[in-house]
Amino acid sequence: MATILPDITRLKPTGGKRSSKREQIVNVFLRQEGHLSADDLVDLIRREDQRISRATVYRTLQWMVDAGVARKVDFGEGRFRFEHSYRHPRHFHLICKTCHRSFEFLSSDIEGIVEEVAAARNFTSSQSVVQIYGTCEECRTGRTATPQGHSDLLFARDALRIAIATERSGLEFYARAARVTKDARGRKIFQDLASEEQEHLGKLEARYHELLERDPQLESRPTFLFFKDAAKGLFADGAERLMRGVNDQQALMIGIRCERGSHRFFKKYGEKFEDSEGKQIFLEFADEERAHLDLLVREYRALVKRQGRVRRTSGTGAVSARAAR
Ligand SMILES: [Zn+2]
Ligand SMILES: [Zn+2]
Repeated sequence: MATILPDITRLKPTGGKRSSKREQIVNVFLRQEGHLSADDLVDLIRREDQRISRATVYRTLQWMVDAGVARKVDFGEGRFRFEHSYRHPRHFHLICKTCHRSFEFLSSDIEGIVEEVAAARNFTSSQSVVQIYGTCEECRTGRTATPQGHSDLLFARDALRIAIATERSGLEFYARAARVTKDARGRKIFQDLASEEQEHLGKLEARYHELLERDPQLESRPTFLFFKDAAKGLFADGAERLMRGVNDQQALMIGIRCERGSHRFFKKYGEKFEDSEGKQIFLEFADEERAHLDLLVREYRALVKRQGRVRRTSGTGAVSARAAR
């Protein structure tokens, strides 16, 4: 698996001097996955170079924390652990009390609750730590589980899975909307959007397969991003509502609500994530949803106008057409 390493010359904190020893330590650290104690890192460095002192490793770790290359995590073991933060999304931890390994995950629902509580208590939160202690699958069952691997890749995989689920539910929604819409122009718009969703879906799936080529085990690695509400696709409820019988205006309005919800969802999370492939996927997807939203809003206005004109020529409904605007 290829890891892109940051250019550490750019990460030089003010007054700090970049030495070859430091570079060596940083490189060893960035090659690791998971959570290392300072002593773990000393052992790894000593294997490569006996001359580097414990004090130098400690100092460099602190320098990395200050420069934003490393994050300090406390698992309640009486010592800190370190993980690298470059292209490493923010996350929570599951910690096994038996083997002392930790596993990473992120949940939009937990984050939502944390934000809600903080807002209700007029509290400005800067960081939240969620740690779940217990026994991991391997320690409990003795079966070897697929290791977590690189969280940057997992993050991109899960972001793509959510985008694909959304695209699929969007496709289903527009195909259904095209079937139920009576207005010829409105039907054409829904058909066009359905084929656009089909095309996007193809692209997302191709990207997903590219990702799998970078790590053959990627499919079977544990879920990293948990999005309870988004998992079945953000258009699923809208597609269901169409089946209950709606008129053309209502169909467009449901589409507008779905696209708006989808745009906001991907934009909100995309902006919160650290620079990563997953972030890119979310932000690009948010832009596509925005374009669909604008298109539907324009169509909705045009339809209301057209229907108003029809009603006006037939002598009724001028008032209701104005009211709908
Ligand atoms: Zn364990
Ligand atoms: Zn971690």
